[in-house]
Amino acid sequence: MLEIEELTVAIEGKEILHDVNMTIKKGETRVLFGPNGSGKTTLLMAIMGFPRYQVSKGKIVFKEKDITKLPLDERARLGIGMAFQRPPVVRGVKARDIVAVCLKERKDGETIRQLAGKADLVEFLDRDINYGFSGGEIKRSEIMQLLAQKPELTLLDEPESGVDLVNIALIGRLINELLEKDCPIHRRKCMGLIISHTGGILDYVNARTGYVMLDGRIICEGDPHEILKTIKERGYKGCSICIK
Ligand code: ADP
Ligand code: MG
Repeated sequence: MLEIEELTVAIEGKEILHDVNMTIKKGETRVLFGPNGSGKTTLLMAIMGFPRYQVSKGKIVFKEKDITKLPLDERARLGIGMAFQRPPVVRGVKARDIVAVCLKERKDGETIRQLAGKADLVEFLDRDINYGFSGGEIKRSEIMQLLAQKPELTLLDEPESGVDLVNIALIGRLINELLEKDCPIHRRKCMGLIISHTGGILDYVNARTGYVMLDGRIICEGDPHEILKTIKERGYKGCSICIK
C-alpha cells in the first residue's frame, strides 16, 4: 500500500505541491488528471525520490515503511518503478543493457528477447536507448523496462502522450500485464498511478479512482470516467466543485 500524507514539495526553493493526500491499496490503479504545470510530474518524481524534489512537509509511506528520506535506488529496490513523460536519449547504452539491469534474475538473452517481443521492440534491443525512437517506441521501451523490473508500485507519466491509436492499444495491454489486470483484485500484488492528460488510457486500463490536481493540490477525487466527462464539459475549474 502507498500512503501519502500532507505531502508538500519544493523545487529549488519554490513550493510546487501543497498538502497532497493519497492512498493506493494493493491491486488498485488510480489516474491523475490536471492541466499542464499543475504538479503531476512533480508528485511522481517526489514519490520516486529524485533529490531535486525536496519534501518540506508530510510523508510517503510504502509497504508500511516511511520512505520520505530514502534515496531513489532504495525505493526502486523496495518495488517502486516509473516511466517518464519524456525519457532521455542515452548514447552508448543499448536498450538491452537497461532491460538487463532492470531484471533481477534471468538476465539471459532469451528472457530479454521475450520481453522485447511483448513490446514489439526486438529489433531495437541493440540500438542506443531512445535514440531515434518514435513517440510510441519510447513509451513502449519505458514499459518494457518496467516489465523487467516488475515493480509493486508503477508510476506512469502520460503513457499515451504522442502515441497513435494502434500504439495506445498495445501500451494498454502492456500496462494491464504490469498491473496484473487478469488477476482478481485481492490476489494482485501490484498497484499503479497513471498520469493522463487526455484520459485516452481509460479505454484500455481499468481504473476505479481518479484525482484532479490543480495548482499543486488535489481538488477532486472520484470516478475517473465522470471526472473526464466533467473536464471535457466544464474544464478543470468545473472539477473544483467535487471537493469532498
Ligand atoms: P505537470 O506534470 O502537471 O505538467 P510539473 O510537475 O511538471 O507539472 O510542473 C509543476 C510546476 O513546477 C510548473 O509550474 C513548473 O514550471 C514547475 N517546475 C517544474 N520543474 C521545475 C524546476 N526544475 N525548477 C523550477 N520549477 C519547476
Ligand atoms: Mg508532467
